[in-house]
Amino acid sequence: EQAEAASLFWTRSAARHDDLERALSLMSDLDDAMTAGHIEVFYQPKLSLTVDAVTSVEALVRWRDPERGFIGPDQFIPLAEKSGRIEKLTLYIFDGVLHDAAAWRARGHDLAVGINISATLLTSRSFNDAIERRIAASPVPPATLIFEVTESAAMDDPDAAVAALRRYRDLGVAVSMDDYGTGQCTLSYLQLLPLNELKIDRSFVQFAHTNHHDAILVRSTIDLAHSLGLKVVAEGIEDAECLHFLRASGCDMAQGYHISRPTPFAELMTFVEHRKAA
Ligand code: C2E
Ligand code: CA
Ligand code: CA
Ligand code: CA
Repeated sequence: EQAEAASLFWTRSAARHDDLERALSLMSDLDDAMTAGHIEVFYQPKLSLTVDAVTSVEALVRWRDPERGFIGPDQFIPLAEKSGRIEKLTLYIFDGVLHDAAAWRARGHDLAVGINISATLLTSRSFNDAIERRIAASPVPPATLIFEVTESAAMDDPDAAVAALRRYRDLGVAVSMDDYGTGQCTLSYLQLLPLNELKIDRSFVQFAHTNHHDAILVRSTIDLAHSLGLKVVAEGIEDAECLHFLRASGCDMAQGYHISRPTPFAELMTFVEHRKAA
């Protein structure tokens, strides 16, 4: 308890006492929140620009607390990572995703689904074993799962990342590099990583259609990814002009509020079925 409090405290620069208290109270409630069903998985559609259809989604976790209200993942994922609770939480989310993916497949929707995997989990044998068991027991084809690993996570411990990503690929799961452009991934390292997809970070995408430098950066990233045989996703698309720019630049997939916000399973089904009929 005390060691954990200290670690939560010192990892937050300029932490104040009430921040620390909130963090500890959040983390002590996380197990109960999972049991009570307050941890929910939302899905944000990814639009394929090559076929003009939603072919995949990203799973994004939300915590709906009856007293505190809505808590976003940015507020509790980093805490769960630092306090040793991310493994259990991610497996809980993964179970929810497999359950939902089986359900949408039963309704005839062949959607791939991205799952965010924290850096600390890449080196966890128990996590990777548990993932493998779940995949083996699920009717969901592993090729429709995409593990999203951030560029900075992959650079934390490059050798460990390569080993973990290879294992995921051996399971038949696709691997995506998330938040690309915000880390320090070199070209030679990018070639070494077993990747299927590159997600260009929102900060570069958002102004690409209005800012000349961002436009060059996004276009050259798309070309680079394609030359490495990777699909490119642009995230954070908030308007039609931005979407148009990415389509014209040869980007493969687009994700953002302009296409859809992250939504619960039922709304995702409505969105996908409506779009199909339209
Ligand atoms: P991320 O993986 O980069 O996810 C994209 C974030 O951008 C999501 O925020 C999404 O709601 C938001 N977003 C999508 N489109 C737009 C847009 O057009 N404009 C803007 N301004 N934002 C957009 P969210 O859901 O709050 O998640 C934040 C971060 O929390 C995620 O960033 C990811 O790093 C982490 N996270 C979320 N769910 C999970 C999870 O299940 N496991 C782990 N380990 N991390 C998660
Ligand atoms: Ca992501
Ligand atoms: Ca991202
Ligand atoms: Ca991010």
